[in-house]
Amino acid sequence: MIPGSFDYHRPSSVKEAVGLLAQLGEDARAIAGGHSLIPMMKLRLAAPSDLVDLGGIADLKGIKADGNDVVIGAMTTQHELIDSKVIHDKLPILIETAELIADPQVRYLGTVGGNVANGDPGNDMPAVMMCLNATYHLTGKSGDRTVAARDFYQGAYFTALEPGEIVTAIRIPAPPAGHGSAYQKLKRKIGDYATAAAAVVLTMKGGKVESCSIGLTNVAETPLWAEEAGKILTGSSLDDATVKKAVAAAEAITSPATDRRGTPQYRTKMAGVMLTRALARAKQRAGA
Ligand SMILES: Cc1cc2nc3c(=O)[nH]c(=O)nc-3n(C[C@H](O)[C@H](O)[C@H](O)COP(=O)(O)OP(=O)(O)OC[C@H]3O[C@@H](n4cnc5c(N)ncnc54)[C@H](O)[C@@H]3O)c2cc1C
Repeated sequence: MIPGSFDYHRPSSVKEAVGLLAQLGEDARAIAGGHSLIPMMKLRLAAPSDLVDLGGIADLKGIKADGNDVVIGAMTTQHELIDSKVIHDKLPILIETAELIADPQVRYLGTVGGNVANGDPGNDMPAVMMCLNATYHLTGKSGDRTVAARDFYQGAYFTALEPGEIVTAIRIPAPPAGHGSAYQKLKRKIGDYATAAAAVVLTMKGGKVESCSIGLTNVAETPLWAEEAGKILTGSSLDDATVKKAVAAAEAITSPATDRRGTPQYRTKMAGVMLTRALARAKQRAGA
């Protein structure tokens, strides 16, 4: 299908972009890689009057280490994430996640900022960002602010972004060296969104879990941070009985919709299976 007509703008600075968004009003939309927005426009599920293309803003690009944090510019593509030595060394879970998103064509254009700002519960990065306790840097006409990923998602396609505000960067505290992580995703075929997926980041000391954070994808209207499940596992040796208890706690906070990927009961169970596998893999990788 062909999208409705719109005017196109290509600002070269964040200031110009937010100025345009404020001036053009709520029918204008930012566009990044276009791999969620353009399909929605073609289906006429979105009909923006104006597109403000963030692709010409050099300040929104790049990945850098800043002390113990990693800062990722919003216009960094999934492909650039996979290729980054900083991400490889400090946040390998982002590479594992990005490699499970769609296919190379989508990853060459799709951006990390677009993925986290979109608000689709099927996007993979948001639950991983919640798991990692990332912070989003936002800029709007009235200035800059930060919002924790864990507070950002309010409903399907409904986030803490105010009209005209854009995500400029994502700041992630790097887990300590020797941590274990895994992103386990069930999908029906290459290029599909998750039936259910689980992200785990944990640290182990003396055979016991020292810290454990868990995120879940596409099993509720928003990505989920399974705080209680992580607490249950902390201090354990990831023995079968404790893992089962934690998985039950994670399953209890899901409320997936019925769609082509299965019934709510099936998707909840698959979230539990993905979590069990992610925990085993993260444990194996811890200290490696
Ligand atoms: C075939 C196919 C399969 C896919 N499979 C998956 C998958 O399995 N997992 C997955 O996670 N994604 C998947 N995607 C989506 C893909 O990852 C998108 O690239 C991503 O969701 C959005 O990033 P984008 O840069 O393309 O954003 P766009 O499509 O340009 O924008 C998406 C939304 O975010 C807003 N936006 C974009 N950037 C910003 C910003 N910096 N600040 C504020 N708002 C912003 C836009 O206004 C728009 O509302 C798939 C896409 C396709 C076409």
